[in-house]
Amino acid sequence: MRTDRTFTMLKPDAVEKGHIGAILEKINASGFRIVAMKLTQMTTADAKEFYAVHRERPFYGELVEYMTRGPIVAAILEKENAVEDFRTLIGATNPADAAEGTIRKLYAASIGENAVHGSDSDENAAIESAFHFAGREMF
Ligand code: UDP
Ligand code: MG
Repeated sequence: MRTDRTFTMLKPDAVEKGHIGAILEKINASGFRIVAMKLTQMTTADAKEFYAVHRERPFYGELVEYMTRGPIVAAILEKENAVEDFRTLIGATNPADAAEGTIRKLYAASIGENAVHGSDSDENAAIESAFHFAGREMF
């Protein structure tokens, strides 16, 4: 299992607000190399599967609605210790708890609409990357 890659999505709220460029700039400036990237929109079935781990949670329906309402930027990022360092860069799930300077502190509106996704383990980074990208789209 490789430890130098993570998967991210710039979520529909971040795309709607025109924050793609600013967030990618911050990702680059933090030492991550983009090894795959595309603008895409998840179907309801896609979002239900991607977030299946949360299917019993009260916010699951809203989460699926939110994540399918417009395009996202999906990307795979490479850096030593990628999963943990990217979670640090994005900040806490709830922007109210996110550290100063983190992506969620800067660009997230609420715990639901929180601008960006970051994988929580090396195993999930691999699963989520394969969910969105074919091998020939990863560099
Ligand atoms: N979420 C939500 N309400 C909550 C917790 C999470 O709407 O109380 C949404 C939010 O968009 C979050 C996603 O569900 O990013 C996945 O939740 P998770 O706990 O995995 O947070 P993350 O790993 O994204 O920080
Ligand atoms: Mg999570």
